[in-house]
Amino acid sequence: MISRLKILYELQKLDDHLDELEEQRGDLPDAVNSLVEKIDQIKNDISEKEKEKKDSLAKREENEEEIEKLKVNQKKFKAQLYQVRNNKEYDALTKEIDHTEEQVTKLEAENDSFADLSKRLTEEIETVTPQLEELKEDLKAKEAELKEIVKSNEKEETKLKAKRKDIESKTKKADYLAYMRIRKAKKGKAVVTIKRSACSGCHNIVPSQRQLEIRRNNKLFFCEYCGRILVSPEVAESTE
Ligand SMILES: [Zn+2]
Repeated sequence: MISRLKILYELQKLDDHLDELEEQRGDLPDAVNSLVEKIDQIKNDISEKEKEKKDSLAKREENEEEIEKLKVNQKKFKAQLYQVRNNKEYDALTKEIDHTEEQVTKLEAENDSFADLSKRLTEEIETVTPQLEELKEDLKAKEAELKEIVKSNEKEETKLKAKRKDIESKTKKADYLAYMRIRKAKKGKAVVTIKRSACSGCHNIVPSQRQLEIRRNNKLFFCEYCGRILVSPEVAESTE
Protein backbone atom coordinates (compact mmCIF):
# COMPACT_ATOMS: atom_id res chain seq x y z
CA MET A 1 0.00 0.00 0.00
CA ILE A 2 2.75 2.43 0.88
CA SER A 3 4.16 2.12 -2.62
CA ARG A 4 0.76 3.07 -4.03
CA LEU A 5 0.86 6.23 -1.92
CA LYS A 6 4.46 6.92 -2.84
CA ILE A 7 3.61 6.64 -6.52
CA LEU A 8 0.86 9.21 -6.13
CA TYR A 9 3.16 11.56 -4.27
CA GLU A 10 5.83 11.06 -6.92
CA LEU A 11 3.31 11.85 -9.64
CA GLN A 12 2.40 15.04 -7.85
CA LYS A 13 6.02 16.09 -7.56
CA LEU A 14 6.58 15.54 -11.26
CA ASP A 15 3.49 17.50 -12.16
CA ASP A 16 4.61 20.31 -9.84
CA HIS A 17 7.84 20.44 -11.74
CA LEU A 18 6.10 20.41 -15.12
CA ASP A 19 3.72 23.12 -13.88
CA GLU A 20 6.71 25.26 -12.91
CA LEU A 21 8.11 24.94 -16.41
CA GLU A 22 4.77 25.89 -17.86
CA GLU A 23 4.53 28.85 -15.51
CA GLN A 24 7.76 30.20 -16.93
CA ARG A 25 5.88 30.71 -20.17
CA GLY A 26 3.60 32.99 -18.19
CA ASP A 27 0.80 34.49 -20.21
CA LEU A 28 2.80 34.25 -23.42
CA PRO A 29 0.81 31.35 -24.92
CA ASP A 30 -2.47 33.17 -24.23
CA ALA A 31 -1.06 36.42 -25.56
CA VAL A 32 0.10 34.70 -28.74
CA ASN A 33 -3.32 33.11 -29.25
CA SER A 34 -5.22 36.32 -28.76
CA LEU A 35 -2.88 38.17 -31.13
CA VAL A 36 -3.38 35.51 -33.80
CA GLU A 37 -7.14 35.87 -33.36
CA LYS A 38 -7.03 39.66 -33.58
CA ILE A 39 -4.84 39.58 -36.68
CA ASP A 40 -7.18 37.12 -38.38
CA GLN A 41 -10.15 39.32 -37.56
CA ILE A 42 -8.54 42.43 -39.04
CA LYS A 43 -7.40 40.50 -42.12
CA ASN A 44 -10.94 39.22 -42.66
CA ASP A 45 -12.31 42.69 -42.16
CA ILE A 46 -9.90 44.12 -44.73
CA SER A 47 -10.62 41.45 -47.33
CA GLU A 48 -14.38 41.95 -46.89
CA LYS A 49 -13.90 45.66 -47.47
CA GLU A 50 -11.70 45.02 -50.51
CA LYS A 51 -14.42 42.82 -51.93
CA GLU A 52 -17.07 45.45 -51.30
CA LYS A 53 -14.86 48.00 -53.06
CA LYS A 54 -14.39 45.71 -56.04
CA ASP A 55 -18.12 45.04 -56.28
CA SER A 56 -18.97 48.71 -56.15
CA LEU A 57 -16.39 49.49 -58.82
CA ALA A 58 -17.89 46.82 -61.09
CA LYS A 59 -21.35 48.30 -60.61
CA ARG A 60 -20.03 51.77 -61.34
CA GLU A 61 -18.52 50.55 -64.60
CA GLU A 62 -21.79 48.88 -65.52
CA ASN A 63 -23.62 52.12 -64.84
CA GLU A 64 -21.11 54.11 -66.87
CA GLU A 65 -21.75 51.90 -69.87
CA GLU A 66 -25.49 52.26 -69.41
CA ILE A 67 -25.15 56.04 -69.18
CA GLU A 68 -23.13 56.08 -72.40
CA LYS A 69 -25.84 54.10 -74.19
CA LEU A 70 -28.58 56.35 -72.85
CA LYS A 71 -26.71 59.45 -73.98
CA VAL A 72 -26.28 58.06 -77.48
CA ASN A 73 -30.01 57.37 -77.62
CA GLN A 74 -30.80 60.81 -76.33
CA LYS A 75 -28.69 62.36 -79.08
CA LYS A 76 -30.60 60.31 -81.64
CA PHE A 77 -33.95 61.42 -80.21
CA LYS A 78 -32.87 65.05 -80.21
CA ALA A 79 -31.83 64.80 -83.86
CA GLN A 80 -35.18 63.28 -84.71
CA LEU A 81 -36.94 66.28 -83.17
CA TYR A 82 -36.06 68.26 -86.33
CA GLN A 83 -37.78 65.76 -88.51
CA VAL A 84 -41.13 65.41 -86.70
CA ARG A 85 -44.24 65.79 -88.81
CA ASN A 86 -46.84 66.39 -86.14
CA ASN A 87 -47.41 67.21 -82.47
CA LYS A 88 -48.03 63.63 -81.56
CA GLU A 89 -44.60 62.57 -82.77
CA TYR A 90 -43.07 65.58 -81.08
CA ASP A 91 -44.67 64.73 -77.73
CA ALA A 92 -43.62 61.11 -77.98
CA LEU A 93 -39.99 62.07 -78.63
CA THR A 94 -39.92 64.68 -75.87
CA LYS A 95 -41.23 62.05 -73.50
CA GLU A 96 -38.44 59.68 -74.52
CA ILE A 97 -35.83 62.39 -74.07
CA ASP A 98 -37.14 63.26 -70.59
CA HIS A 99 -37.24 59.63 -69.61
CA THR A 100 -33.66 59.06 -70.76
CA GLU A 101 -32.59 62.16 -68.86
CA GLU A 102 -34.18 60.84 -65.68
CA GLN A 103 -32.43 57.52 -66.05
CA VAL A 104 -29.07 59.18 -66.59
CA THR A 105 -29.57 61.35 -63.49
CA LYS A 106 -30.54 58.32 -61.43
CA LEU A 107 -27.52 56.30 -62.53
CA GLU A 108 -25.16 59.22 -61.96
CA ALA A 109 -26.50 59.67 -58.44
CA GLU A 110 -26.02 55.98 -57.83
CA ASN A 111 -22.43 56.22 -59.02
CA ASP A 112 -21.79 59.18 -56.74
CA SER A 113 -22.80 57.11 -53.75
CA PHE A 114 -20.71 54.19 -54.97
CA ALA A 115 -17.74 56.55 -55.19
CA ASP A 116 -18.41 57.77 -51.64
CA LEU A 117 -18.60 54.20 -50.40
CA SER A 118 -15.36 53.34 -52.14
CA LYS A 119 -13.61 56.33 -50.60
CA ARG A 120 -14.90 55.47 -47.14
CA LEU A 121 -13.77 51.85 -47.48
CA THR A 122 -10.32 52.92 -48.66
CA GLU A 123 -9.98 55.20 -45.64
CA GLU A 124 -11.09 52.44 -43.30
CA ILE A 125 -8.58 50.02 -44.78
CA GLU A 126 -5.84 52.63 -44.51
CA THR A 127 -6.68 53.16 -40.84
CA VAL A 128 -6.44 49.51 -39.82
CA THR A 129 -3.44 48.56 -41.95
CA PRO A 130 -0.82 50.15 -39.63
CA GLN A 131 -2.59 48.53 -36.65
CA LEU A 132 -2.31 45.20 -38.40
CA GLU A 133 1.40 45.71 -38.99
CA GLU A 134 1.91 46.61 -35.33
CA LEU A 135 0.07 43.49 -34.17
CA LYS A 136 2.11 41.34 -36.52
CA GLU A 137 5.33 42.77 -35.09
CA ASP A 138 4.06 42.16 -31.58
CA LEU A 139 3.15 38.59 -32.44
CA LYS A 140 6.54 37.96 -33.97
CA ALA A 141 8.30 39.19 -30.81
CA LYS A 142 6.09 37.19 -28.46
CA GLU A 143 6.40 34.03 -30.53
CA ALA A 144 10.17 34.37 -30.52
CA GLU A 145 10.18 34.89 -26.75
CA LEU A 146 7.97 31.88 -26.19
CA LYS A 147 10.05 29.75 -28.50
CA GLU A 148 13.15 30.70 -26.56
CA ILE A 149 11.62 29.62 -23.25
CA VAL A 150 10.23 26.39 -24.70
CA LYS A 151 13.59 25.61 -26.23
CA SER A 152 15.53 26.20 -23.03
CA ASN A 153 13.21 23.85 -21.11
CA GLU A 154 12.80 21.30 -23.85
CA LYS A 155 15.30 18.74 -22.59
CA GLU A 156 14.11 18.89 -19.02
CA GLU A 157 10.49 18.75 -20.07
CA THR A 158 11.01 15.74 -22.30
CA LYS A 159 12.78 13.94 -19.48
CA LEU A 160 10.06 14.77 -16.98
CA LYS A 161 7.32 13.74 -19.36
CA ALA A 162 8.95 10.39 -20.00
CA LYS A 163 9.28 9.84 -16.27
CA ARG A 164 5.69 10.87 -15.76
CA LYS A 165 4.50 8.37 -18.34
CA ASP A 166 6.38 5.65 -16.53
CA ILE A 167 4.86 6.60 -13.18
CA GLU A 168 1.42 6.95 -14.71
CA SER A 169 1.66 3.36 -15.95
CA LYS A 170 2.50 2.25 -12.41
CA THR A 171 -0.45 4.13 -10.89
CA LYS A 172 -3.66 2.23 -10.25
CA LYS A 173 -6.23 3.41 -12.75
CA ALA A 174 -8.77 4.45 -10.11
CA ASP A 175 -6.06 6.36 -8.22
CA TYR A 176 -4.97 8.10 -11.38
CA LEU A 177 -8.49 9.16 -12.25
CA ALA A 178 -9.05 10.47 -8.72
CA TYR A 179 -5.72 12.25 -8.85
CA MET A 180 -6.49 13.92 -12.18
CA ARG A 181 -9.97 14.91 -11.07
CA ILE A 182 -8.72 16.55 -7.87
CA ARG A 183 -5.78 18.11 -9.67
CA LYS A 184 -8.13 19.74 -12.12
CA ALA A 185 -10.51 20.95 -9.40
CA LYS A 186 -7.70 22.25 -7.22
CA LYS A 187 -5.65 23.79 -10.01
CA GLY A 188 -2.61 21.59 -9.57
CA LYS A 189 -2.29 20.13 -6.09
CA ALA A 190 -4.04 16.79 -5.63
CA VAL A 191 -1.68 15.03 -3.22
CA VAL A 192 -0.54 16.83 -0.10
CA THR A 193 1.09 15.93 3.13
CA ILE A 194 0.52 16.85 6.77
CA LYS A 195 2.55 19.75 8.08
CA ARG A 196 2.26 20.87 11.69
CA SER A 197 -0.85 18.74 12.07
CA ALA A 198 -2.55 20.51 9.16
CA CYS A 199 -3.40 19.59 5.59
CA SER A 200 -0.75 21.39 3.57
CA GLY A 201 -3.28 21.96 0.83
CA CYS A 202 -5.93 23.89 2.75
CA HIS A 203 -4.19 24.40 6.14
CA ASN A 204 -7.05 22.94 8.11
CA ILE A 205 -6.09 20.88 11.15
CA VAL A 206 -6.26 17.12 10.62
CA PRO A 207 -7.69 15.45 13.75
CA SER A 208 -5.00 13.53 15.62
CA GLN A 209 -6.87 10.23 15.37
CA ARG A 210 -6.97 10.70 11.58
CA GLN A 211 -3.28 11.61 11.56
CA LEU A 212 -2.49 8.33 13.24
CA GLU A 213 -4.52 6.44 10.65
CA ILE A 214 -2.79 8.25 7.82
CA ARG A 215 0.62 7.40 9.34
CA ARG A 216 -0.18 3.71 8.97
CA ASN A 217 0.11 4.23 5.20
CA ASN A 218 -2.34 1.47 4.46
CA LYS A 219 -5.24 3.37 2.99
CA LEU A 220 -6.02 6.30 0.73
CA PHE A 221 -7.24 9.26 2.81
CA PHE A 222 -8.82 12.43 1.58
CA CYS A 223 -8.76 15.74 3.42
CA GLU A 224 -12.27 16.25 4.74
CA TYR A 225 -12.08 19.97 3.96
CA CYS A 226 -10.50 20.25 0.54
CA GLY A 227 -10.84 16.68 -0.76
CA ARG A 228 -7.14 16.32 -1.60
CA ILE A 229 -5.33 13.05 -1.10
CA LEU A 230 -3.46 13.17 2.22
CA VAL A 231 -0.25 11.24 2.67
CA SER A 232 1.94 10.91 5.71
CA PRO A 233 5.20 12.87 6.07
CA GLU A 234 6.92 9.50 5.88
CA VAL A 235 5.65 8.94 2.34
CA ALA A 236 6.69 12.45 1.36
CA GLU A 237 10.18 12.06 2.84
CA SER A 238 10.77 8.71 1.21
CA THR A 239 10.23 10.20 -2.24
CA GLU A 240 12.51 13.19 -1.68
ZN1 LIG B 1 -7.15 20.00 2.91
